[in-house]
Formats: sequence, structure tokens, C-alpha cells
Amino acid sequence: MTVRLRFAPSPTGYLHIGGARTALYPWMFARRHGGQFILRIEDTDLKRTRPGAIEDIMASLRWLGLDWDEGPDIGGPHGPYIQTQRKALYGQWAHWLVEHGQAYKCFCTPEELEQARAEAGSTGYNRRCRNLTPAEVAEREAAGREYVIRFKMPLAGSTVVPDLVRGDITFDNSQVTDYVLLKSNGLPTYHLAHPVDDHFMEISHVTRGVEWLSTAPLHVNLFRAFGWELPVYVHLPVILNPSGKGKLSKRTQAFNDQGQQVLVRVEEFRDAGYLPQAVVNFLANVGWSFGDDREKFTIEEAIAHFDLADINPSETRLPYEKLDWLNGQYIQEMEPLALANALRPFLEAADYEVNVEALLAVTPTLGVRLKRLTDAVPLLRFLFEEEPLALAAADLTDQKLDLAAAQRAFEQARAFVQSVEPFVVDTLRDGLTTIGEQNTANGKAGPFLGKMRLAITGQQVSPPLFESMVALGRGRVLARLEETLQILSQGEGVTVREG
Ligand code: GLU
Repeated sequence: MTVRLRFAPSPTGYLHIGGARTALYPWMFARRHGGQFILRIEDTDLKRTRPGAIEDIMASLRWLGLDWDEGPDIGGPHGPYIQTQRKALYGQWAHWLVEHGQAYKCFCTPEELEQARAEAGSTGYNRRCRNLTPAEVAEREAAGREYVIRFKMPLAGSTVVPDLVRGDITFDNSQVTDYVLLKSNGLPTYHLAHPVDDHFMEISHVTRGVEWLSTAPLHVNLFRAFGWELPVYVHLPVILNPSGKGKLSKRTQAFNDQGQQVLVRVEEFRDAGYLPQAVVNFLANVGWSFGDDREKFTIEEAIAHFDLADINPSETRLPYEKLDWLNGQYIQEMEPLALANALRPFLEAADYEVNVEALLAVTPTLGVRLKRLTDAVPLLRFLFEEEPLALAAADLTDQKLDLAAAQRAFEQARAFVQSVEPFVVDTLRDGLTTIGEQNTANGKAGPFLGKMRLAITGQQVSPPLFESMVALGRGRVLARLEETLQILSQGEGVTVREG
């Protein structure tokens, strides 16, 4: 059997990280079995639809690498893939149910419903229109009364909802109301749209949030009423706020135990400097595990191991603290050119004009220093900003390198940089190390090279010195050494206390 799975977001906002997880599992399962992954847009709640949301959701899915085989942008044999464009189909099947005695027209006005609920003290529907005679229905229709179509839920007995990870769950039918299937504007509710679409789109497995489990007995009865084969249901566990309080949602902000706000939308993860492969790896671990305690794996490895039946139905928190670690691992594995290209948008966002070749001089040393791509921006500031060094002589000298020694060493460094050939890491290391050793009080290069880093980058923390120099190029290094010598010539240096 070909497996066909879908992700069916409502275009109410950005894709949030829980939604991405809801998309990831069916995608992995479809890829594992050579099946299809379908993107379907559930936009029948017009009040909640936000313009641009479909594009935002698709952009986030693409960034994560979750590609679809059928969908609103690419079409497919079971289109259209946007529910409002399938309106006629839902109307047709809602009326089919009415004609077959499985559903009925309900003419109750919102006020009547309100009153009935208040009287009954419950949110369900009192089924007032369930037993209208054909004549009563015809009379109301002739009067032009608006109606909705409601399902005739069996009044007694029970319904078993089979769930792949939760087993069979039995519901008492009397607890399930007669839900609206078709609204008065002719659009379906989720309860009707999902069985119709999942049937006609030949979906084999319905993976969806556990919030739909309570109405699943209705869905099971609908499939039965239509005489259609039930798909395999998998109700995915809730993802909790990192604090463990409540569900993570795109509409609310989420906080961790320390009260810090955490990222929720997929695009926030991208903008914060996370790599898509790290985010996907991170999400795959939430509610499923690779086995043998491995937390880092490629998506290909995950696909090869993944089974929907192995999903853990318990609710989980997102272990945000693991994401930085994972992301750092993925950054370290990047080829220098790939890293340079990945850093580019972040540097450009800081208004830096990026020269990839210069960047390549430092990217091989950067990987181990980054947890997020954004960490590179302050580290590389020296490469893009030309400001007077905010240094005093006291910053460039210390007990092991007094003012006279610093002046000597930096002068020698300037002469050396002017003539060294080739201007590469190895020659710079050799020459500057010797200069350091010859001028410091303890005969070690370290104290001088530390000051040299400050003079060259103006930063306490930077990529390694020699790589940074190569990235800057000889001319800019010389200009900074010139400036350093100026500062030293005016300065006092640290006073070495006697005794
Ligand atoms: N549109 C529904 C939601 O966003 C989809 C549920 C489903 O996948 O069936 O929750």
C-alpha cells in the first residue's frame, strides 16, 4: 500500500515550532515508505484566516526542508488543496448525509442556541431540530430561514477510536453532541472537511494534534455514515511551554523556568541563527527517540529509523537547552564556504558589506566558536567596521610588556608586516611569535600576541589572531598598527610597581 500523509494547517498565522513537529512526523513517515506528503490548507474559518499566512507557512516548511508532493502551489491529482476552493464538494456531501438520514438541517438562531445552552447549563446542542418533520423543514426553508447542517450522532452506545499510538479509545456516544458540519455560509466545519478531504485525497494516516481526540468519535461515525474506510489515526502529543505550564502556542508567548521568553515561530529560529537541520533534529527528538540514546542524527538516518508507531503519546516540553548544543555541532561540521554563505545574511543584516573571500580566511576557525550563526556578528565586527581603536596605552601594555617594550615590539611588528611574504597564517605566526619572545619580560610570546589581538581587532574576543590578520589584509593591518603606535607614543602605559 502506498502511504499518503498530510499536513493540514489553518492559515491563521506563522508556523510555530509545534506545528513544524506536526508536519515533520508525517513527512518522515511518507519519505521512509516512498509515499506522498500532501500540504492542505484548512481555511474554512474565515474569521481566523490571516492574509499572507499560507506563504509564511510554506516558506517555513521549505526552510526546514519539509517538501510536499501535492499542495496549493504545485497542484496534484486531488486538488484543489485549499479548502475554500472545495466548497461545493463539502456542500454536496453534507446534503448527501441529510438525504440519507444521517444529518439534519438546524434552523436555530444564535439567540435560541444561547438560550437553550443557558437553560441546560451545557455547551452541547439540545437537538431541537433533529426531529423536525419534512413539512416543518420545508416551511422554514420556504420562509428563507438560514440553516446549518448537523450530524446525527448516535444517541446511545459507544464508539471506538483506534489510535496507532494510544490504542483503542472508547467514547460514550451520549457525551458527543450533534456537531455542525456545514455552516450557514455554506462552508464546512473541520469536522466535515477533514473526512471528505482525507477520503478523496486518499490519506492513509491522519496525524494531528491530540486536541482533536475528543471529537474523533464524531469523525469515526462520519466515515462510517459515508461508508468510507477509516484512515489510521495518530494523535500527536501536546508540546508544553518550556516551563511545563500549558500548551505551547503561536498566539501566546512562551517562557522557560527562568522566566526568559523562548522562540516559538519557525522563522524566529531562523533569524536567531539556528540551522534548519539542527531544528529538524531537535524536533524529531520531541516525542520520538532514535534509539541507542543518540540525540544527533541526520535527517536521512532519522527517516530510515522512523515509525509512527514509536511515537510516545505523553506530553513533552521542548528541551530548548539542547538546541544550542545541537546547532553548534552542525555549525562545526559545515564546510568553510557553506558557513561563510550561511553567515552572509546575518552580517548583511548588520549592514556589513560582505566579501566572501575575506570571510573564508576566518570561517575555518569560527565553527567551534559559534552556537548560533548570529554569534559570528560581534566576533567579526573588526572585519567590517573601521573605527578608531578605542584603546589607551594602558590597554596595550602590562607587567610583562611595559611601554618601552610594547613600542619596540609593535614597531618590529609593523616592519615585519610590511615586508613578510607570503602574507599568510604560517609566516605571520612565525614572525610575530619571535617578536613577542624577544620583547616580553618573561620571554614568552603570549603577552605580546594578546595585545596584538587587541590592536588588530579592537576586541577582547575574536577569531584567532593570524587568521584575523589575513582576513583584514596587509593594508588594513598596517593602518591599525600605525594607530597602535600613535596611541603608545602618547601614553603612559601601566606603572610597574617596584618592590
Ligand atoms: N487544521 C487543523 C489544525 O490546524 C488540522 C487538523 C488535522 O491535521 O486534521 O489543527
